[in-house]
Amino acid sequence: MRLRASRTLIVEPPLPEPLAPLRDLVANLYWTWNTDAASLFERLDRELWQETGHNPVALLQRIPAATLSRFAVDDGYLSHLQRVLSAFHAYLSRPPLCVINGLSATEPVAYFSLEFALTESLPTYSGGLGVLAGDHLKSASDLGLPLVGVGLLYHEGYFHQHLGPDGWQREDYRVIDLSEQPLAPIVDALGSRLTVAVPIDGRTVTAQLWRLDVGKVPLFLLDTDIPTNGESDRQLTGRLYGGDSEMRIQQEMVLGIGGVRALRAMGVDPAVCHMNEGHSALLGMERIRTLMTEHGATFAEARLPVSSATTFTTHTAVAAGIDLFPPDLVARYLGEYAAGMGLDRGALIGLGRTNPGDDTEPFSMAMLGLRLSGFRNGVSKLHRMVSQRLWESAWPTLPLDQIPIEAVTNGVHLPTWVAHEVGDLYDRYIGESWRDDPANSDWSRIAAVPDEELWRVHERQRERLVLRARQQHADAMMSRGRSATPRGSGGVLDTGTLTIGFARRFAGYKRATLLFRDPQRLAAILNHAERPVQFIFAGKAHPRDEPAKALIREVVALSERPEFRDRLILLEGYDMELARSLVQGCDVWLNTPLRPLEASGTSGMKACANGAIHMSVMDGWWWEAYQPGLGWAVGRSRLDDDPEAQDAFDANSIYDLLENDLTQSFYERDHEGVPGDWVRRMKASVSAFGPVFNTSRMVAEYATKAYEPAARSWHILKADALAAARDQARWLDNVRSGWDSVRVRELSHARNEATGLGVTVTIDPGQLTPEDLRVDAVFGPAGPDGSLASHGVARLDFVSLAAGEALYRGEVPFTEGGRQGYAIRILPAHPNLHDPFASQLAHWA
Ligand SMILES: *Cc1c(COP(=O)(O)O)cnc(C)c1O
Repeated sequence: MRLRASRTLIVEPPLPEPLAPLRDLVANLYWTWNTDAASLFERLDRELWQETGHNPVALLQRIPAATLSRFAVDDGYLSHLQRVLSAFHAYLSRPPLCVINGLSATEPVAYFSLEFALTESLPTYSGGLGVLAGDHLKSASDLGLPLVGVGLLYHEGYFHQHLGPDGWQREDYRVIDLSEQPLAPIVDALGSRLTVAVPIDGRTVTAQLWRLDVGKVPLFLLDTDIPTNGESDRQLTGRLYGGDSEMRIQQEMVLGIGGVRALRAMGVDPAVCHMNEGHSALLGMERIRTLMTEHGATFAEARLPVSSATTFTTHTAVAAGIDLFPPDLVARYLGEYAAGMGLDRGALIGLGRTNPGDDTEPFSMAMLGLRLSGFRNGVSKLHRMVSQRLWESAWPTLPLDQIPIEAVTNGVHLPTWVAHEVGDLYDRYIGESWRDDPANSDWSRIAAVPDEELWRVHERQRERLVLRARQQHADAMMSRGRSATPRGSGGVLDTGTLTIGFARRFAGYKRATLLFRDPQRLAAILNHAERPVQFIFAGKAHPRDEPAKALIREVVALSERPEFRDRLILLEGYDMELARSLVQGCDVWLNTPLRPLEASGTSGMKACANGAIHMSVMDGWWWEAYQPGLGWAVGRSRLDDDPEAQDAFDANSIYDLLENDLTQSFYERDHEGVPGDWVRRMKASVSAFGPVFNTSRMVAEYATKAYEPAARSWHILKADALAAARDQARWLDNVRSGWDSVRVRELSHARNEATGLGVTVTIDPGQLTPEDLRVDAVFGPAGPDGSLASHGVARLDFVSLAAGEALYRGEVPFTEGGRQGYAIRILPAHPNLHDPFASQLAHWA
């Protein structure tokens, strides 16, 4: 017989009094971006720190009491602890860097995401979307912005990746031990666990709540794995992207509906909700439902304040990347819920369709998000245009470039991704403000760093990466039953060779195998006698993406060919920790998506922040960042409809760059061994990208463009039991019924030397009044056929009403010569109307 415990519990060794403050540091994820704090844990027991996967809670549980006693009397350690502690407390208590009217701790922004990547020791993320969400929270904390995160607490999270002997990806799910996470249970006033109920398919699913502190920002996580739920409901918070669409829609109900209920149960009444992708779009429905019940309002009335106070961010550039659900499935799961809000099946499904009347269209959560938000954005300037095209048919009354989707380019949380030593260098030359306020720091001071100093620091990062990669590769080969027998003595890769990183999710459009189009030419580049090059690949494929797994296998097989084998490797288990090593140690970061399918891409920003040079197809963020001298642009020509020709063109462009510019610049050394031209490029890149491609700039941009107007609208429309919202709903009804009676009577213009063009329009407002209308001149360069490009918008003022005709006048400020044109656009206008495009009403003349 095997003895089984009737109860298990964690017995932590008591912390000696002088080390007690470690508890505070462990309870907050501040250490994940403060390397001085992280090194406190590493110092205690380096091996255990590695073994726990950088998990300080687990470290303190397992560390021998004798070690603790030793450090409790180590003056050097205690002063290190004191230094970190005072920095931490100063961080928590300092005044905000970003003050936004209408937001407060009880009425904050609530940022909803299905995944958050905060640290490798909590694997609740799959890739870029989660990393962005985690970095968003960290920068909101740095800025002191009142913001809370809302997500799911997964018990297994995302898989750990292993490659079999055949190079085929194996997914390994491990239970996340919650007792080893810095989670605090949320309890009510009586000390019992606070729970929320979510109605799903006739059942009630209960979720308990946890809190994770990310600096000043709390992240609230919903967890359905509790005994009162049935077995399958307990699995709803099991795996990230684990199940089929039935699983997914239920997870999204827990996140969206449950998330809003959870905030309210805790006394948090968000002024603004931010949907990170369509997964959380149901939060809009639940906020509407709440206002309807509390104030006896109709759906149309409650929708106005909710949508004006919602921000929606889309991350996909591929129609196939959009989460779609069959209408029957949506009706089954949400029909009763929607009926409670007065929506029949047609109305419910219509909210998730670009064309609500099209019965063949599936239900898209992203479309629901677009419809229930007042600020929508793509994640780079190019992705904004791609998104406008993707969602064009949802705004049939607007021309393509006026589809109301803005651009807020992604960033990265610099202190999370910049190597310790590089950060020290920035502290000294740029000033410590680069950590919390990079957008307002003087990055040009990087020029003052002596070339040799910057180069030596960078070389140490590369060395660290190569040694680690070599060890990991050798271990993996052993476990795959291969012996790694490289040509050299030390193992694969070389510490002084130009090192190029390629790490990202494996997906077809990212073209991981593009580099191998001409294997002979590649082999010659890698094995060049004086100017060799080496590559490190990493990345996971989605568990159900078989073609992507085949790509991994292909890269592995190629990497085992004799001409590549010690200059090109694929490391398994891409996670935040491996990502950090790679972006910190590579000389060049390569990205080869098929344009325009990369929405933004953020790994390149991480690499550039560490002094790597970016080399990429002109897609995502690179389209707006690249300038000659700042990295390299791959394949400048765009061969739209011929992916095969595009592949050939782009691969050729990579080979050319590798054979010439890159290797010449990298291997051209002065008498100190420093590559002067290369270091100049490093400095130019850090100086140009440092202030821009970070989440501090990004969150501040969301705060001013989206959150502040949203919060203002929310407070106005919600006041006095929705008085302004009801008024606006009535007004909208009236405008809608009278819209077709509005006519443009006359249009004239006169050249006006100083300002451009004076435009006068006479309008018959029909059943409406002039105050109901907003009249604009949309202008820009015109083609010979009258087509208008790159629009500017000039508002025309209402001047007078006489004999049933309203006169509007304004100035169109043409700043360019050549053929110019303008068009008159009429939209509904109301003092509190947040989104003039939501009604779909527009006249053009
Ligand atoms: C940054 C990061 C990503 C996103 O990288 P992209 O360049 O946007 O593809 C994915 N996974 C991990 C682990 C990361 O750190």
